[in-house]
Amino acid sequence: MPPTPLPPQTRLTGTQIQYFIVCPTKLWLFSHKISMEHTSDIVKMGKAIHETSYSRENKEKVIDSRIAIDFVKRGDALILHEVKKSRRLEKAHRFQLLYYLYYLKRAKGIIAEGVIDYPAERHKTEVTLSEEAENEIESTIQKINAIIQQQEPPKAEKKRYCRKCSYFQLCWA
Ligand code: SF4
Repeated sequence: MPPTPLPPQTRLTGTQIQYFIVCPTKLWLFSHKISMEHTSDIVKMGKAIHETSYSRENKEKVIDSRIAIDFVKRGDALILHEVKKSRRLEKAHRFQLLYYLYYLKRAKGIIAEGVIDYPAERHKTEVTLSEEAENEIESTIQKINAIIQQQEPPKAEKKRYCRKCSYFQLCWA
């Protein structure tokens, strides 16, 4: 069966999916192009790990100018890889990968499996787009769009992650 075209509001980035899980304020700021990501050491470190860990094995592909995926082929199966620093934000990582699997299935008709690699912890988490996960992603997409459409960012709430967030000065200085 050919893939069903996705409505424009479904076309989010993986980063937006992650930020929704981490902090709705961050999601809003990022989605409204208030970017301070270049100042974040976490982002730099994540990129360094990504570049050194899987460069030979994987191929990166950008799909529809919005999702950048690393993938490998195992026989006929397509396996998406996400490389992350630590499992502290594993739920956000899982949702990001689920969104990629959902997007590939719904926009391109491609069925894939996912693996999150934590090379520093020598750990891999497998991610499968079950029917339940698909419903969860659809509900997440709706919630994200509702947040983005707000005129003002959601009120910042302090959490442990704030100290590592590139928006820390903006929210708490
Ligand atoms: S500093 Fe904290 S409250 Fe502000 S955007 Fe970042 S995570 Fe959210």
